[in-house]
Amino acid sequence: MDDKVSIHLLLIEDDTVDALSLYDLLEKADPSGVKVSHVQRFADGLDLVHQEHFDVVLLDLSLPDTQGLDTLDQLCRFVPELPVVVLTGVDSQTTAAEALRQGAQDFLVKGSIDGQLIIRSLRYAIERHRAQGALRESQERYELAARAANDGLWDWNLHTNRIYYSPRWALMLGYSEEEIGDSPTEWFLRLHPDDVEPTRRAIAQHFKRETDHFEQEYRIRHRSGSYRWMLSRGMALYTDNGEPYRMAGSQSDITARKQTEEKLIHDALHDPLTRLPNRIFFQQQLEGTLNRFRADPTQQFAVIFLDLDRFKTINDSLGHLMGDRLLTSIAGRLERCIPPSGIIARFGGDEFAVLLPQITAVAEATRVAKHMLQAMEAPFLLHGHEIFTSGSIGIALSADNYTRTEEILRDADTAMYRAKAAGMGKYRLFDATMHIRAMALWQLETDLRRAIERDEFLIYYQPIISFKTGQLAGFEALVRWNHPDRGLLYPADFLALAEETGLLNIIDRWTIRHGAAQLREWQMEYLRQPPIFLNVNLSGSILNQSDLPDYIDAVLRETGIHPNTLRLEITEGAILREIAGINHKLAELQKLNVRLCIDDFGTGYSSLSSLHYYPINTLKIDGSFIANMNSEIGNIGIVRTIISLAHDLNLDVIAEGVETPNQMQQLQALACEFGQGVLFAQAADPSSSRQLLQQNPSWLSTAC
Ligand code: C2E
Ligand code: CA
Ligand code: CA
Repeated sequence: MDDKVSIHLLLIEDDTVDALSLYDLLEKADPSGVKVSHVQRFADGLDLVHQEHFDVVLLDLSLPDTQGLDTLDQLCRFVPELPVVVLTGVDSQTTAAEALRQGAQDFLVKGSIDGQLIIRSLRYAIERHRAQGALRESQERYELAARAANDGLWDWNLHTNRIYYSPRWALMLGYSEEEIGDSPTEWFLRLHPDDVEPTRRAIAQHFKRETDHFEQEYRIRHRSGSYRWMLSRGMALYTDNGEPYRMAGSQSDITARKQTEEKLIHDALHDPLTRLPNRIFFQQQLEGTLNRFRADPTQQFAVIFLDLDRFKTINDSLGHLMGDRLLTSIAGRLERCIPPSGIIARFGGDEFAVLLPQITAVAEATRVAKHMLQAMEAPFLLHGHEIFTSGSIGIALSADNYTRTEEILRDADTAMYRAKAAGMGKYRLFDATMHIRAMALWQLETDLRRAIERDEFLIYYQPIISFKTGQLAGFEALVRWNHPDRGLLYPADFLALAEETGLLNIIDRWTIRHGAAQLREWQMEYLRQPPIFLNVNLSGSILNQSDLPDYIDAVLRETGIHPNTLRLEITEGAILREIAGINHKLAELQKLNVRLCIDDFGTGYSSLSSLHYYPINTLKIDGSFIANMNSEIGNIGIVRTIISLAHDLNLDVIAEGVETPNQMQQLQALACEFGQGVLFAQAADPSSSRQLLQQNPSWLSTAC
């Protein structure tokens, strides 16, 4: 405190002599240091403090209107902001000590004081009172904040190893204040076993001053026996030589937040439908397993990949709700096939994956796979429906060359596709040859995409002969791929993959557009009556594209060909597969006046009687029937039936794969309209086909 500033003192003293002697002492010590207001009665003093500002009170404890400590008590209560120094007689030392306990800052004994002593005492009283006020305020502030935050407080004396726990701290654990002692075990013995070590470590780190404060989340046992999540924070005080001697802090209940966090984490790692772990979770586990294997190759593991067979069909026909139920039931059955150490996850859609993190023999993996397949054999009963389903399984085993989890999953997937190709409900172990094949397929896919960009496709044309005239009536457009490295490729080399990868649509559109443009050119150049036609093959998947009619319409307009000279071939298989809404789709195409032809008829086992359902114009008998026409199997009867039925339905007929004059004669005898096959000509490039048009040969003579 600045010595220059004078102190405003309230002196409450009934004895005038004493008062005057005090005046005197002060005046001598420092004439301007203290400004004194004097009252003789306590009540007057109280009045005055409410009118004027004082820095300190000098209080005689024996006054006419109050007595002894009572006086002090009242004063402290009425004006707690004012520091008080008491004046006592020589004989009342014990009262003085009691006065200090009750809040007086100091005491002065009458008769044994000098001016300097009084002034010093007053100054210290003011200063100490102010410091105590600030401290009390900050303590109150902290306590209020802690209470508002619902925190418990603790204060650890490291010398005595005793901890003060606040009532709230105890309450958070379900105890009352009295039920909790002051030993550290009240805290540490209740911690979850997994959290003891981390908590001790965090405290030790802070004691070593490696952290600027202590902070730890842990589970602590509540009186009810359950664990609650708490966040504890604290700070230590250190002696001059760096030893911690006290640490205090707070504890807040974060159970609700932890539960939300845990749920979020759980949701992010699980499939909401089946409640199984999801792909992310699976990959995390697989990652750990792979790392362990790489560190110790005796820790073999296996990944089993299961894909449901025909799930899409089931889902489409039963509806998504039932599809979901089925998936849940399947998940339940599969789960029961997995050993306790294994993990099963749903990868999305109809795919499931199993990780067997530790196996000692391949048979352990194949056994699980067999169980999984068996588990799916019995029908699923859903809302009175009996649903049969099966899955195909691929298995990949741990191997040295794996560095990433994706590689293992990819191989399990490849093996699964091989299992699928072998028929439904089977499993296959991945082996390196599959990888080579998969790589080749992948290369082919890349090439295919490039081929589309670089226009590496071309069309070969195979003549279709009219049996009435013996002359060329039209062509079938057959796509070829002029591969930069591998030369001319046939549909068998790339169509299946193109279909699988969704690229066939693009190829088909290309064929329609280019074929139609070529047809237009030839129709203009070689006027025929009727004009020559072009048959173009459509894949099943392009039929599903809603803009197909628009596309064809655009091509017709662009080229100006007569619509009925364009014939779209759709295989019987595709029609059967795309059964949903097929008639609607065919009818839409018919509206364009193009002609529709069922290709490979007889291979799809559609019943002959169902033929009249489809809005079609032409029927193309599959080459296998023609090839066997002369054999003992008696296909001639079938061919005859097909042709006469087609005629009944007003369809014309093309016979495919006509290879011998004999076949041609028989077909003619059955009034088949058209024929196609090596007997007449193989498919050829545009310029050879043009030459053929030019020559316009008659094949009737071939038949004779
Ligand atoms: P497809 O529609 O049944 O076509 C007839 C196939 O039989 C052609 O094979 C043709 O070259 C071949 N062939 C011709 N004459 C004879 C014969 O006398 N005996 C025998 N055994 N076969 C003969 P290619 O060109 O290899 O085509 C195979 C299949 O690829 C076609 O079968 C068709 O389904 C598909 N395809 C061809 N081009 C396209 C296309 O642009 N789009 C679509 N979606 N499929 C196409
Ligand atoms: Ca065809
Ligand atoms: Ca065919």
